[in-house]
Amino acid sequence: MIRVSMPTILLLYLGIMLFFLFFIWLTSHLKGGKKKDLPPLLKFISCEYCHHPFLVKPEHPIHQCPQCSCLLKEENSSDI
Ligand SMILES: [Zn+2]
Repeated sequence: MIRVSMPTILLLYLGIMLFFLFFIWLTSHLKGGKKKDLPPLLKFISCEYCHHPFLVKPEHPIHQCPQCSCLLKEENSSDI
């Protein structure tokens, strides 16, 4: 009969569990690697005149501030 000490059994158990978790992470990483980030539906900008923050659709180049009704270009808007 093979004599195995308790620390050896514990080390083998932890090594097998660590390898099993690494294998699960590796397979999920390889499957999810082909996903691409979707563009955001709404963008959060603030008015440069009254500093009122509001949400806009990023496909429109010009936005109107809901508080002061000023028109803002995409280049002048800033992300928060
Ligand atoms: Zn404004």
